[in-house]
Amino acid sequence: MGVLSMKGGDGEHSYANNSEAQKSITSDAKPEVVKSVNEMIVKMDFPGCIKVADLGCSSGENTFLVMSEIVNTIITTYQQKGQNPPEIDCCLNDLPDNDFNTTFKLIPSFHEKLKMNIKGKCFVSGSPGSFYTRLFPSKSLHFVHSSFCLHWLSKVPDGLEENKKNVYLRSPCPPSLYESYLNQFKNDFSTFLRMRAEETMPSGRMALTLVGRKTLDPLSKDCFKDWSLVSDSLLDLVSEGVVKESDLESFNLPYYNPDESEVKEVIDNEGSFEINNFETIFGLLFSYKTGRSEVKDDCDDDVDHSRRFEVVKKRANLARSIIEPMLVAHFGDAIIDRLFEKYIYHAGRRYDTLRNKPTVNFFVSLTRK
Ligand code: SAH
Repeated sequence: MGVLSMKGGDGEHSYANNSEAQKSITSDAKPEVVKSVNEMIVKMDFPGCIKVADLGCSSGENTFLVMSEIVNTIITTYQQKGQNPPEIDCCLNDLPDNDFNTTFKLIPSFHEKLKMNIKGKCFVSGSPGSFYTRLFPSKSLHFVHSSFCLHWLSKVPDGLEENKKNVYLRSPCPPSLYESYLNQFKNDFSTFLRMRAEETMPSGRMALTLVGRKTLDPLSKDCFKDWSLVSDSLLDLVSEGVVKESDLESFNLPYYNPDESEVKEVIDNEGSFEINNFETIFGLLFSYKTGRSEVKDDCDDDVDHSRRFEVVKKRANLARSIIEPMLVAHFGDAIIDRLFEKYIYHAGRRYDTLRNKPTVNFFVSLTRK
């Protein structure tokens, strides 16, 4: 699964430069992360070193926005208790193909922004590997954070032969396709929880944000629309003879956006963690507005064409920063610019329908039993 990585570097199409949407949802979840860290520290016997991990840190600054919030909360909580701050071990995990270098270059500015009395006591390291395997020693982690990762599966599910014209689930399709995706998600998420259960201290915490869906019907319109736009764009390239039909038929994304009950069921069945809080955070495809109740884009109805193009292009760059490495590995890099021109065309045509359809994200706060 070496190709599942976001686009590295800091160029126009990089993840580092196109992850504002994820950043704004993560900001929305921040107060809950702070609350969870705070509750954990209050209940702990002041360990000399606190180990925090961000799983699926990717490349760019998003990981540090969360890490600095966690570290500052630890320090403040210790101060309030009249205790000296502990040492803090910040472990940044992602798959080995991730562009860790771009992330590591931001460590000095992360250190700069920390509270004075933690400087020199906060250590950052990289922990490459799949979070569907063991990454850390037993009972070593206090706090685990992961945002925008757990909708990525450990592999493309088996049994997708019938999914010929789409890269993900899209109506109409046989129920067996949905079951293949759902089973893979259940297996993977359960493995993730089991691995973390071994690594986390008793009463340790996890804060997870992932893309979900609101309706029970996996083929409903609030399923991830970006991938339908990618499917349409690839179909255009097939009809133009640029992409082989068999290449499109054999390409599926290792991705699944579960509904709330599917997430909760896996957590309950696995049994190692208790749910403290489960929230839905809505976002918009074409803006960075987010919220806990459904948000609506309040752009003028007749936004002029050049602005509409800019907005749609930004969304195309976001999708590109996420799946370009996967597309290149399967189709080669010659088609990528053309593919995303098509994407912009399709997204522009469906702008009015897509504009006010919120994306659905879940925030889950867990305690190790
Ligand atoms: N947390 C960041 C990045 C999210 S992008 C943010 O909120 O912006 C999703 C990241 O998850 C990618 O970098 C991808 O490589 C990583 N990822 C996906 N599957 C993974 C796995 N099995 N193990 C570790 N990282 C994984």
